[in-house]
Amino acid sequence: MKFNLENIVRKNIWNLQPYSSARSEFNLYGNGKKELTLLDANENPKGDLNRYPDPLQSSIKEELAKQKNIATSQIFVGNGSDEAIDLLYRIFCEPGKDSVITCPPTYGMYEVSAAINNIEVVQIDLSKSFELDLDGIMNSPAFGTSKLLWICSPNNPTGNALLKADLKHDWEAQNYTRGGMMDMPFAPEFEAEMLENQRQLDRLFGAFNGIIVVDEAYQDFTENRSFINRLEDYPNLVVLQTMSKAHGLAGARVGFAFASTEIIELFNRTKPPYNVNELSQKAVLARLLQFDQTQNDIQEIITNRDVLAEHLKSFDFIKEVYPSEANFLLAQVENATEVYNYLRDNEVIIRNRSSQIADTLRFTVGTRKECEEVIQALSAFKKN
Ligand SMILES: *Cc1c(COP(=O)(O)O)cnc(C)c1O
Repeated sequence: MKFNLENIVRKNIWNLQPYSSARSEFNLYGNGKKELTLLDANENPKGDLNRYPDPLQSSIKEELAKQKNIATSQIFVGNGSDEAIDLLYRIFCEPGKDSVITCPPTYGMYEVSAAINNIEVVQIDLSKSFELDLDGIMNSPAFGTSKLLWICSPNNPTGNALLKADLKHDWEAQNYTRGGMMDMPFAPEFEAEMLENQRQLDRLFGAFNGIIVVDEAYQDFTENRSFINRLEDYPNLVVLQTMSKAHGLAGARVGFAFASTEIIELFNRTKPPYNVNELSQKAVLARLLQFDQTQNDIQEIITNRDVLAEHLKSFDFIKEVYPSEANFLLAQVENATEVYNYLRDNEVIIRNRSSQIADTLRFTVGTRKECEEVIQALSAFKKN
């Protein structure tokens, strides 16, 4: 593999002498319950939030490391995944010079963040059925020089997985949940599909000199295996996840990047010293410890998603409801903007995605009651 990290990192970042905060020079948080006289950080001795937060969020990382079966040194905790997205530009992309590849229609922040950092974006569109155009990507002149390749999977706003980390594992997991045996042999045609998927992944990751970012913001809603499990195989892989969707903590602004220890070290030196505040760190740790509750909440949303999809399909002005492995549904709708405006006037706010994909609306899957409110409002629209 010809990937070489030093070759693609901006020189100023590679040579950066990071700011050393009081709380990183003396790591208070490793010192258990000892009574310490803390006169190192110019804090106020009184108050509830008087101390600076842990700059490296060690308790969150320890819990995540257990849950994801990964080393704490391979985790970056950020002020939302949006911070990780911005840092990827600042670490790897020279403003006014470098380029990145996106695969639209996809998450808008990749382009906004590129524009803020003055980085050129080369777009290789998804196919009509929203599949990744692997040949188009690999044959594009930008493939040889771009620093980042953004792949959102499951993709926002289309809802489908664009890249599969490990079909063999997916097959085994699905087979197992249906009561089969873990080591049941594959059907021969499946074996071929699995090998082909693996071959394509090796081809893509092996040929790209930059970083391939797999944004797994919606990973908790799919049965597909996470790319976190492929970090050992691909040194140029960065996986993003977030507390904002399945974990119900969008207000706390916390997201994660998972990568090699070397890449995470670059995140740590480039980020603001205290990038995740104390209140959010506490909320995230508490939520991570409610693992079973989170799994129940996810199952409920998946059930609601399937119910909502069936209802949406029953309206004749809804032409198609795309399959979703996320907590939203994208639908092709006649006069989408008119429907959007009608729902808005009736206090149901969805997302009009028609500017990205003609005549489409995106419905976030909420509680059962909220799903029923959407259905009711759409029925009233039909009668109008
Ligand atoms: C919602 C979303 C995120 C989450 O961003 P946060 O900053 O962590 O809230 C990231 N990527 C995609 C594709 C999303 O849809």
